[in-house]
Amino acid sequence: MADTSSVIEIHDLHKRYGSLEVLKGVDISAPVGGVVSLIGSSGSGKSTLLRCCNLLEDSQQGEILFKGEPVQWHGDGLSRRPADPKQVLRIRTNLSMVFQQFNLWSHMTILQNVMEAPVTVLGRDRAEVEQSAHAYLVKVGIGDKANAFPAQLSGGQQQRAAIARALCMEPEALLFDEPTSALDPELEQEVVRVIKDLAREGRTMLIVTHDMKLAADVSDHVVFLHQGLIEEEGAPDRLFGAPKSERLRGFLSATQ
Ligand code: ADP
Ligand code: MG
Repeated sequence: MADTSSVIEIHDLHKRYGSLEVLKGVDISAPVGGVVSLIGSSGSGKSTLLRCCNLLEDSQQGEILFKGEPVQWHGDGLSRRPADPKQVLRIRTNLSMVFQQFNLWSHMTILQNVMEAPVTVLGRDRAEVEQSAHAYLVKVGIGDKANAFPAQLSGGQQQRAAIARALCMEPEALLFDEPTSALDPELEQEVVRVIKDLAREGRTMLIVTHDMKLAADVSDHVVFLHQGLIEEEGAPDRLFGAPKSERLRGFLSATQ
């Protein structure tokens, strides 16, 4: 069952918050070099699923595999948690997350934001990290903002800084949670352009997005989540061009 050609793979995942079952048996994987988009209405469980991938959330049932290696759990289905802190760290540092609200540290410069985790969490050499941090800032088009503070940047620039920060961890995969939702339409495009470049480079990505054009343009595979279950999935052309499920058709016409 283990598939080492996937960075992350989830089988039959169940997740509840108290009595609310948010994920009801979900299967999803991020194949190496592939882009998978996750779409669905607000509250369908997209963010929860992404957070389960890098073990920011506990779950009750199901398997999570990182490069074919199953997450080890401690306890039973009602109160299980990851058993091996080293494994958790390895998985979390290899799945860098980019959030809707950027989550940059406001008291640090952009360069310090990008350098922080590689230096303090991974223990990498500061001078080397500084060099690659600069390179990633140039790559996302804000090489001139290294010494600025987040508040001095536009939303689009802040989100690109957050992407540079994620890249500087040299992760196996990038997880995006609605990376363009907080941005004005004209700033959205500069972030979309960066994500498209990353897709073209063959980065492994799992992208939660409300932007159907982005999902159609960059994805190899699109998953439509409805109330904690996968309602339909497939290649973007097929899924957007000939949706089978009534719910997906309704969702797509509402987002036009
Ligand atoms: P989406 O990202 O698709 O909008 P979420 O994964 O954020 O959906 O949320 C799915 C459901 O889980 C929603 O009903 C939401 O209210 C609930 N939920 C999310 N986080 C929590 C939490 N920390 N505690 C309780 N309920 C939560
Ligand atoms: Mg969400």
